[in-house]
Amino acid sequence: MDRAETLDWLHEKDEPRLEELWERADSERRARVGDEVHLRGLIEISNYCVRHCRYCGINACSAGITRYRMNRDEIISAAGEAARLGYGSVVMQAGEDPGLTKTFVSELVREIKGTTDLAITLSLGERDDEELQAWKAAGADRYLLRFETSDPALYARIHPAFPGRVSDRFAQLERMRDMGYEIGTGVMVGIPGQSWEMLAQDIDSFRYYDMDMIGVGPFLPSPRTVLGGPEASEFYLDSERQVPNDELTTLKVVALTRLVCPEANIPSTTALATIDPASGRELGLTRGANVVMPNVTPTKYRVLYEIYPGKACIHETALVCHDCMGRRVASIGRVLGKGPGGRRRN
Ligand code: SAH
Repeated sequence: MDRAETLDWLHEKDEPRLEELWERADSERRARVGDEVHLRGLIEISNYCVRHCRYCGINACSAGITRYRMNRDEIISAAGEAARLGYGSVVMQAGEDPGLTKTFVSELVREIKGTTDLAITLSLGERDDEELQAWKAAGADRYLLRFETSDPALYARIHPAFPGRVSDRFAQLERMRDMGYEIGTGVMVGIPGQSWEMLAQDIDSFRYYDMDMIGVGPFLPSPRTVLGGPEASEFYLDSERQVPNDELTTLKVVALTRLVCPEANIPSTTALATIDPASGRELGLTRGANVVMPNVTPTKYRVLYEIYPGKACIHETALVCHDCMGRRVASIGRVLGKGPGGRRRN
């Protein structure tokens, strides 16, 4: 699919034509990664962050947030819960928190790998190669780092510079692949300043870099951030050029991503479930996605990991989330995945 065709699909409004896109994405999904929906237990291990990402509700300057960092035993116990629920992997995610040291994370990874069969995905932001290598050596399998936008000017506007670090997420992703990680990335749909051309280029980038995992969700404005406040108006493009942060556009991106990266693991994201609590998860799964990430963070911390307001599944316990996901997966005639559910190479 070339850039012009991607753009045509992104602009498409005709329902019968769109049915064709949904069907193509769903049959590609079935043929290449099958009917299994893989479950990744999400553990939000810390909401401390040193960065100032303009969209993120837990960025360093967000006021009024109670910060937490789970301790070793709490994290091990959440991972144990994921294993007991039958999940093949856990994702440990956090703000960019220097308190999550090389040694702390290495020991955690070693302990979880030594006592469970879980695959481990880390999502701890931009980190030094030395740390990334140590975590790989300790047994980490995968790393998620969304590049957020492939447009360098927009990237720079929404990610203020951080002293002492050149932020190049594509470069970090490539280095991590060389280290042996499966690499995951993604973008938000409708971030202020995102044009249709930029979004089409993002989709091309997923293919160019042959990403193993690709997460796409709508941008959800957080009032704690620049992009969720009055200053956001300076970022938005005129209504013709600005991509909306709506469900339809997000689903188009999920479907197009499946077509350009047919073997990738693609989650139906929490952000999609947040804008459509009734059926967002199912729509994602029937239009290209094959992964869901039930939250196994203890409830008392989960409410504090507020990257955007109204996040789905925030008050449920791990068990309630698990049952709900199981029902949703069964309702669309799919089956729960078994085992770690790594990247397929057909
Ligand atoms: N610190 C880690 C994890 C960030 S949270 C990192 O930087 O990789 C995971 C993802 O949530 C981000 O990559 C971003 O794409 C998404 N996110 C953050 N704020 C959001 C918002 N306001 N609306 C929608 N998604 C958001």
